[in-house]
Amino acid sequence: MLKPRFQVLARHAGLRAQGLATINTSRLLRRATTALLLGGTSAVVAAYFLLPDISRGAPTCDSIPLSPSHFTPAKLVSSTYASSGTIMLTVAVPPELLPNESDLFAPIWSVFIKDDDIQVERPYTPLDGVDKDGNMRFWIKKYQHGEVSRWLHSKKVGETIEIRGPLKTWSWKDDAWDEIVLISGGTGITPFYQLLRTVFSSSPSFHGRITLLHSSRSPSELPPREVLNPLLKLAQHNPDRLRLKLFVDSLDESNGQRFTDLEMHHGRIGKDSIRRALYSASRLSWWRGLFSRDSEDSDRKILFLVCGPQQMVEAIAGPYGRNYSQGPIGGVLQSLGYKSHQVWKL
Ligand SMILES: Cc1cc2nc3c(=O)[nH]c(=O)nc-3n(C[C@H](O)[C@H](O)[C@H](O)COP(=O)(O)OP(=O)(O)OC[C@H]3O[C@@H](n4cnc5c(N)ncnc54)[C@H](O)[C@@H]3O)c2cc1C
Repeated sequence: MLKPRFQVLARHAGLRAQGLATINTSRLLRRATTALLLGGTSAVVAAYFLLPDISRGAPTCDSIPLSPSHFTPAKLVSSTYASSGTIMLTVAVPPELLPNESDLFAPIWSVFIKDDDIQVERPYTPLDGVDKDGNMRFWIKKYQHGEVSRWLHSKKVGETIEIRGPLKTWSWKDDAWDEIVLISGGTGITPFYQLLRTVFSSSPSFHGRITLLHSSRSPSELPPREVLNPLLKLAQHNPDRLRLKLFVDSLDESNGQRFTDLEMHHGRIGKDSIRRALYSASRLSWWRGLFSRDSEDSDRKILFLVCGPQQMVEAIAGPYGRNYSQGPIGGVLQSLGYKSHQVWKL
């Protein structure tokens, strides 16, 4: 079954991506008809997901501060082409509606954006958080049959977009880990961008080390320069604390044009690349590495955060659990000897 990665992630993160409050009747009928044609079981499953769930509805309010309990109207201030099938989009919430509690905006957080046409919401991660003028910048991929992403790609500057949040996706702690490995695929890099930019600009007490392993299908699908360059710069300025490694499944014609300055690894992120990504592993001499147990690092405070397409998350860290809970650790990280408390699937 084709399951949208982020729809699944949203449920898993407790951020029900469906968020169906009310739904346009004709679209619902169209979907229901398709579902019925698919036969008994799938019709029942589809009905569960497609029926409106009033309890998930939230009112719209433009006079009280931004909060997860209601939608706030925001203006689309820019929408520009970023890379193949993706845009950079900036929306502005009236600054007087920003809540004062700064810890609400500690990484990693997202907001729901509502597609007004069909009253469906999806979560998106503001790359740089929110500034004092209420601006939030997003990198958004358009899914061929996706509801909200296609709607967002069609919105024009000056139009209103309703958002709800902030919602915590995962909580950063300054001194909790010696080493963090971030593993992302596609737009799954957005929460890590938010995390890295915040940590390296405003967490002087963090003395650990971070490695970001990011993969895209091809060079042309890599994150745009607006996303990659600030991260590359952070890694250049913090060579002992941050490393960035890019992977592509295959090379395409864009290689050699936009990406001559980037070191790209050909192939998927797997056991060897994860093992090599660890600072502790790079300190081991080659012969000691040969005989050391993979789980040797288990007493160090190492954390893996994984965010990407569902299949990638499963291959790296194991499947999500029932009701999109974390589920058991599996995949490559399990085979390397890591335990559940060392892995978080975003
Ligand atoms: C915490 C969090 C943060 C996120 N941040 C970002 C972000 O910064 N940027 C970003 O781009 N995304 C982000 N996402 C993903 C985002 O929330 C959406 O899931 C994504 O935009 C797709 O939503 P959609 O409504 O367009 O697609 P959906 O309607 O949910 O569909 C998704 C996929 O399913 C396919 N599909 C839909 N209907 C059918 C059908 N009938 N048959 C077969 N296939 C079908 C679509 O083609 C598409 O590939 C985030 C998700 C989470 C959980």
